[in-house]
Amino acid sequence: MLCENITVNGNRLYFAGVDTVKMAEKYGTPLFLMDENRIREKCRIYIDAMKKHFGKDSFPLFASKALCFKRIYEIMKEEKMGIDLVSSGEIYTAAKAGFGMEKSFFHGNNKTDADIAYAMENGVGYFVADSIYELSAVDRIAEEKGIRQKMILRLTPGIDPHTYAAVATGKVDSKFGVAIETGQAELFLKEALTFENLDIRGYHCHVGSQVFDEDGDVYLEASTIMLHFAKKMEETYGFKAEILNMGGGFGVRYTESDPYLDIEKAIESLSKHIKATVAELGMTMPKVIMEPGRSIVADAGMTLYSVGTLKEITGYKNYVSIDGGMTDNPRFALYGSKYTLLLANRMDEECDFECDVVGRCCESGDIIQPEVKLPKPVRGDIVAVCTTGAYNFSMASNYNRIPRPAVVMLADGEDYLAVRRETFADIAERDV
Ligand SMILES: *Cc1c(COP(=O)(O)O)cnc(C)c1O
Repeated sequence: MLCENITVNGNRLYFAGVDTVKMAEKYGTPLFLMDENRIREKCRIYIDAMKKHFGKDSFPLFASKALCFKRIYEIMKEEKMGIDLVSSGEIYTAAKAGFGMEKSFFHGNNKTDADIAYAMENGVGYFVADSIYELSAVDRIAEEKGIRQKMILRLTPGIDPHTYAAVATGKVDSKFGVAIETGQAELFLKEALTFENLDIRGYHCHVGSQVFDEDGDVYLEASTIMLHFAKKMEETYGFKAEILNMGGGFGVRYTESDPYLDIEKAIESLSKHIKATVAELGMTMPKVIMEPGRSIVADAGMTLYSVGTLKEITGYKNYVSIDGGMTDNPRFALYGSKYTLLLANRMDEECDFECDVVGRCCESGDIIQPEVKLPKPVRGDIVAVCTTGAYNFSMASNYNRIPRPAVVMLADGEDYLAVRRETFADIAERDV
């Protein structure tokens, strides 16, 4: 199977040791299931590997944008993870969950004055400045609030991670960060050091997402560029970087043909490389931070749908329509993402029916996955889509006024609600 938490018992699909068909009956569909033990296990893999290989001050941040609701922050707090935040809405949610903000990093290429003030009021630990324009705004608001804001600078090392264009973020011409290659990163630091209310602590880069590093160690290459830059800044401005945040992006398996990435090994090889480069340049070892999102939660998630209609276009193709779609999973529409689909209540039957599994939105691009092989479904069958823990719930919308699904957590064989299903009343609540 794709992941250890996916198993079969008779004709039934089990997830995290729980009968998925029973969950569909109990909570209705569409439904997000999250394997809490798996999330915790992944957090521990990162925490232990980073401590072991980078030292005790090193820690991972969970990239909230991959999956965001209160219960996730409670779990992150219990696991002693830091968090990465990209909006005031995420800050609000984390604060509501009682997450202590010292180990939080606030990202975003366009933080408004209101966002900046809100983040400071909530005690966000670090700002990750994305551009030179942001510095004066943060400085001004920090002065008004009588604080000195800790900050790191987001740079683009000019690396192409060979992933989807829409999720490659470390290239020179990226919307994010400031390019080292053009000389602008140096000006960024020089300028940053002039502000009295900014406490500059180091650098950040994020090469992209769903990266497997098969094409020449993009993380090692990025760290080389970042450290050489840091060394040059140390010599020119006497600025020593205390923090080096290497971003997130480790890939996960969506299909059987995706490679398997060993997180511990990847961290070990990055640490060896960073330590060697630091020694070669005669620098002090920075506190290394990483920001995994997808690799913490993706394979801890599964979506269940009910089959509605079947359309067989003789001589062309077959469509199977399910009761969700791009409103709960826009990733095929956005990136052409691949997924593994299973017929949860007929796991013992042969998959000999080829079809496109499509959503219920008024949009031809509303496809969950084309060219899927399943036992020929009938109305009421349960379709399971695997590896939907990241960038599904968090990207969900109300297009066509479709309510967002509930999120049910599975822990030690028990199930409980983390986010209730949206109602029609919820959707119309703000209409005046
Ligand atoms: C999206 C993002 C991450 C998380 O990426 P994953 O691929 O989900 O691990 C981390 N850092 C930044 C700045 C991001 O934009």
